[in-house]
Amino acid sequence: MEQNNKNKAKAIGVISGGLDSTLAATLIKSQGVEVYLLNFIMPWQKQASNSVEKLAAKLEAELITHQLDNVYIDLIKNPKYGYGSAFNPCIDCHIFMFKIARKYLNELKADFVFTGEVLAQRPMSQMRDKLTLIEEECDLQGRLLRPLSALLLEPTIPENDGLIDRSKLMNISGRSRKEQINLAKKLGITDYPQPAGGCLLTDRVFGERTKDLLSYKHNGYKEMISLQWGRHFRINENFKAILGRNEPENSLLIENADPNDHIMIMDDNKGPTLVLKGDFPEEETFRICGGLVKHYSKSKTLDSARVQYFKASSPKEIFCFNTPSLDEELIERMKV
Ligand code: SF4
Repeated sequence: MEQNNKNKAKAIGVISGGLDSTLAATLIKSQGVEVYLLNFIMPWQKQASNSVEKLAAKLEAELITHQLDNVYIDLIKNPKYGYGSAFNPCIDCHIFMFKIARKYLNELKADFVFTGEVLAQRPMSQMRDKLTLIEEECDLQGRLLRPLSALLLEPTIPENDGLIDRSKLMNISGRSRKEQINLAKKLGITDYPQPAGGCLLTDRVFGERTKDLLSYKHNGYKEMISLQWGRHFRINENFKAILGRNEPENSLLIENADPNDHIMIMDDNKGPTLVLKGDFPEEETFRICGGLVKHYSKSKTLDSARVQYFKASSPKEIFCFNTPSLDEELIERMKV
């Protein structure tokens, strides 16, 4: 029998929109719990993904989004529990997110927090001892429910208090997705994204680019968005250049340029778009950028080629110059 609204349990689900968090939220909702979905927008994202919005609509749950900004950037730079195989500070990241979930728990007078975590699915943050550590660090002892692995873990307060029927929770562990796919079929869930295996920080190249960005002066978390696209070159401590590899990347780089960035292209527009990041570049910096644009264009083998550039905030003030080729060794050395 469904509980009446007055006694209805309330829960905050920390979700990514992937299959695991979709299953966890569906299981909790199916027990008559009033569910709030909390989604973290990573520094390189601008909004919640479609899958998150669709899930909230399907479960008729209020969606709370939280943009991870410069505070999160500081965490990436110096995580107490270190990094995983790339530049992913997963333990600190979970603690950070669940502390925010804890605040919502208090504000909304909810009974517990739940996640789509699966015991032993990820070596860094989902082994038994790490799940306990994370729970303690964010002061959610007994109030952090992992519905997909609950039967393999100690019963939580909402289970002990009868707010949640433990017998309807799962005993999934490990990296295989087979049981989740079967459960999805059983729950009638067909529309879910393929497993991504962690966020972009678990990607080696993205991680290197993040490390480089955070080692030098930058314009804050919004600059991370451009780390996803193009070829990256560290010119010196004050400047870096990004070149699109195709038309969509060229457009995205321009769209997300800072007003102080400079944009450079071949004079005949047959080549990549370069975005130069950094304030007040000198002639030598423009010369290097010109050489980069030429190197990745059809004019690569010519002795020199004409390029044009402008400041992102003043696209009508265009400057041109002839650029010679750039030493290939220098190009290699600058690659990030
Ligand atoms: S994969 Fe990314 S989002 Fe997920 S816990 Fe690790 S650092 Fe955080």
